[in-house]
Amino acid sequence: MRVDVTELTSEPGARMSVEGRAEVGALPDGKPVGPALVRGELVNTGSALVLSGTVDLDVRLRCSRCLEDFQARIEAPLEGEFRRTSAQPGEDERRRALEDEGVILYYGSEVDLSEPVRESLVLAMPMRPLCDPDCRGLCPRCGTNLNRQACGCDDEVPDPRLADLGRLLDDQGRPEER
Ligand SMILES: [Zn+2]
Ligand SMILES: [Zn+2]
Repeated sequence: MRVDVTELTSEPGARMSVEGRAEVGALPDGKPVGPALVRGELVNTGSALVLSGTVDLDVRLRCSRCLEDFQARIEAPLEGEFRRTSAQPGEDERRRALEDEGVILYYGSEVDLSEPVRESLVLAMPMRPLCDPDCRGLCPRCGTNLNRQACGCDDEVPDPRLADLGRLLDDQGRPEER
């Protein structure tokens, strides 16, 4: 997603709203459904153009409990900083500026929002996606999706206090271990 910033660059303090759709490639653990919706503002701080806003994206995720795919909306805060260079920056120079200062170098009259958009979404992806906060997951014995049906397995995890009691009774039943 490229934005023409000609009207911003001449005047420190100038602001410009940005809105548009950005194609996002596959994300770690998620597949975008359509483009991301980007809304924000670019501000000329004198030394840089600072981007702030939000990015929304519908993604297909896999539930970490029941392993079913489901669709969710990722809403992420969007941030970025662009600094203009007087000559076309090389790949090394771009990478160094990004790693050391968190600044994206640009040359000419356009900035490319793809990098901050992608970065924001990657950071906002859930670590353990859940199709529902109450997802019941899979039966550890037979693999049935317990959201759909009960399986009849005796999968009750014993209460640890009862387990202790059981051990105690066990021990008492075996006097040779005392
Ligand atoms: Zn689930
Ligand atoms: Zn089962």
